[in-house]
Amino acid sequence: MSMRALITDGQEVRLDRNWPEPDPKPGEAVVATRRVAISGLDRAAAGGLLSFRGVLGHAFVGTVQSIEPADAGPMTAANRSKIEAEQRVVGSICTSCGTCDLCQKGLRAHCRHQTILGLHHRDGCAAERFALPALNLVRVPETVDDERAVFAHDIAAAIQTARQITVEGKPYITVLGDGPLGLIMVQVLARLNASVRLIGHSARRLGICEKWGIKHRHADEIGRRADQDVVVDCTDSPEGLELAMQLVRPRGTIIRKCVLPPSAQRSVDLSPITRREITLTGSFDGPVSEAMHMIEREEIDVVSIIGRRMKLDDGETLLRATTQPDALRVQAEV
Ligand SMILES: [Zn+2]
Repeated sequence: MSMRALITDGQEVRLDRNWPEPDPKPGEAVVATRRVAISGLDRAAAGGLLSFRGVLGHAFVGTVQSIEPADAGPMTAANRSKIEAEQRVVGSICTSCGTCDLCQKGLRAHCRHQTILGLHHRDGCAAERFALPALNLVRVPETVDDERAVFAHDIAAAIQTARQITVEGKPYITVLGDGPLGLIMVQVLARLNASVRLIGHSARRLGICEKWGIKHRHADEIGRRADQDVVVDCTDSPEGLELAMQLVRPRGTIIRKCVLPPSAQRSVDLSPITRREITLTGSFDGPVSEAMHMIEREEIDVVSIIGRRMKLDDGETLLRATTQPDALRVQAEV
């Protein structure tokens, strides 16, 4: 048996029509992919981040096809998944062993034996089927359709970032980058007791913020007065960090969301971090079940961020579609 899969071999991205079926380990589910969303993280994986080879894709909605019984052991009973076959699901992209020192310290998201869907030691979801631990899966309510459910990973990432921000005395927060993640991020952060604005380049995308009543500015129009308490870098460019360092106040915080393929990385002068005592931190992945609650209760507008509706068979053009100016979140049916 073989299947269709969007793969990278380290040189090029292509649709492979004879990719081997997933081989689930104990406790893992085989998920039949219904829809994937394509983003900068997939472009970074395709561009050689973490020397990834294999099936791309990390944001999905799928139907559980089968679940391998978990190994017997004390962790198994405590963590038994409630997921069953035939259920429609989304999922967390990082796996954990549950037994290493970091997992034992409560840092399962940073397990020493971690795999990451479509990025690190695990084939991704841009295929007819893929494997992921059943514990990573979250059921999609019937009232949420696939087009909205596939945003769960984006929203989870924004919730994670919101948790990393200390909200005291209505801080000034700037989100850099008006791509799909920036547009999700600014909606989630606008729910904090903070003054939040988005900075971008696209009139179309800034216009979506206008509709939401969220403050926004064109990047060419902003003063660089080093007065922001927090700057969240959601750009997919090396310039994002440089701009963030100009905008953040002394002893302020920069949270970096962007990931770049090796070819787009270049050296950046980090001396402002030292001189102005800036905190620079990263943010990755997040709580998918909370994200699904936000989608279900319509607390976030994702419909306005749906971009081109494509097919898995469109192959490598899926990645190219994400780089077009004004692009919103590209989705592909499998
Ligand atoms: Zn571990």
